[in-house]
Amino acid sequence: MLRLYNSLSKKLEDFKPIHALQVGMYTCGPTVYQFAHIGNFRAYTTSDILVRVLRYNGYKVEFVMNITDVGHLVSDADTGEDKLEKSAKNEGKNVWEVADFYTDAFLKDYHALNLTNPSVLSKATGHIKEQIELIKKLEEKGFTYKTSDGIYFNTVKFPSYGELSSLDQIKFGARVEANDEKKNPRDFALWKFSPKDEKRQMEWKSPWGVGFPGWHIECSAMSMKYLGPSFDIHTGGVDHKEIHHPNEIAQSEAATGKKFVNYWIHTAFMQVNGQKMSKSLNNTYTLYDIEKEGFDVLALRYLYLQTHYRQEMNFTYDALDAAQNAYKKLALDVSRFEDPSESQGKVPAGIFEDFEKRFLDALNDDLNTSVALSVMWEVVKSPFPSGPKLRTLFKMDRVLGLNLESLRTQLRKAQGIVPGHIQQLAEERQHLRKMRKFNAADQIRAKIEKLGYIVEDTKKGPKVLKK
Ligand code: AMP
Ligand code: ZN
Repeated sequence: MLRLYNSLSKKLEDFKPIHALQVGMYTCGPTVYQFAHIGNFRAYTTSDILVRVLRYNGYKVEFVMNITDVGHLVSDADTGEDKLEKSAKNEGKNVWEVADFYTDAFLKDYHALNLTNPSVLSKATGHIKEQIELIKKLEEKGFTYKTSDGIYFNTVKFPSYGELSSLDQIKFGARVEANDEKKNPRDFALWKFSPKDEKRQMEWKSPWGVGFPGWHIECSAMSMKYLGPSFDIHTGGVDHKEIHHPNEIAQSEAATGKKFVNYWIHTAFMQVNGQKMSKSLNNTYTLYDIEKEGFDVLALRYLYLQTHYRQEMNFTYDALDAAQNAYKKLALDVSRFEDPSESQGKVPAGIFEDFEKRFLDALNDDLNTSVALSVMWEVVKSPFPSGPKLRTLFKMDRVLGLNLESLRTQLRKAQGIVPGHIQQLAEERQHLRKMRKFNAADQIRAKIEKLGYIVEDTKKGPKVLKK
């Protein structure tokens, strides 16, 4: 049974999906105004591991992730510039170009880290209609009010507002008078009007005036469109637990009258020298940065897996170097295991079932990837034949995503190790030659060459070499 720490109940809970064997999960995606950093990717790696663990457990997962390409303002208090419009000005580009450029860059990095493709990847700008509809519903139910700069959600009207947050000003509201038009400082924008003196590049007509959606409403509109009014799991970085996710809960539940999400999963920060890695502190590293230093992107994935997702982790190049060495050793050890077809030897009954059980138990214990990794190492070091070892390791790698199978093939090719099936073809060819069936033997030689190897006929018999 999978157990997850639910930030809402602040407890470890047994995971029970709304529909048997079918899980709906939503992840807050990137704001595409800059390159995503390795702190951001730590949060996406948790979502990826969770999807993989759910699938490993036999669940079907509908996994939705958004791309925030409008509405995320510089300040959490719904003030300041839109991050995308600001970036476009700085870079001298059109805001749509900025969004496309950083979305593509994000997806390239996302795939390099072997992160699971979302079933739906939805852009905020592609769902303006849905966001307006949701705000209209909130307006009809009396949860909104208008100020000179937008339509706001009235948090006083939603008594359980802020349950998820650990911030008193969110849970209880500030005790001081709000000094702007907001009724309460914790109220948040659903729709913002375009500034009167400035033409925005991204703006839309709405029943309230020309403008753009607030950041929080996009996640409610898109998650509920694709997953329904109530779904199983919502993930994000721990910062979202304080404001963004309480706002998502409030506006979704106020609109539908139903419980929005059952399990909230939050990843702790990636830090640098004890401080959050963040664009505003200017202490970020991108995948490009670490590759420039000679590191493999999947060594970073290995580094993430070594720390539990709810524990803060401090990034250093020394730690990445150690992870890379361990990862290289893992790949090298696995590449030296002979092909299963050639492996012989006895396997004690139940031994691999036991490895696999302990591996799954670790992951089902709130995604304990570091213990799962250590079980994987136990398999590598075990004295059993390579056939069942490789089978078990590749199965485990369906969750850990370290590309062991393709790495093994690559390394064996580089080491000049001829795979068993090629060797077998060479033997078949030799047999045909002995039978003087030269045409058939030549066809096999051509097949071997197509697969990247050549056969040299030496005095001692045929020798297979990498091309
Ligand atoms: P953003 O693009 O700023 O909306 O962030 C994308 C995701 O990364 C969100 O889930 C954030 O909570 C998460 N995040 C941001 N900074 C960090 C960090 N230093 N460590 C882990 N997660 C982070
Ligand atoms: Zn969100």
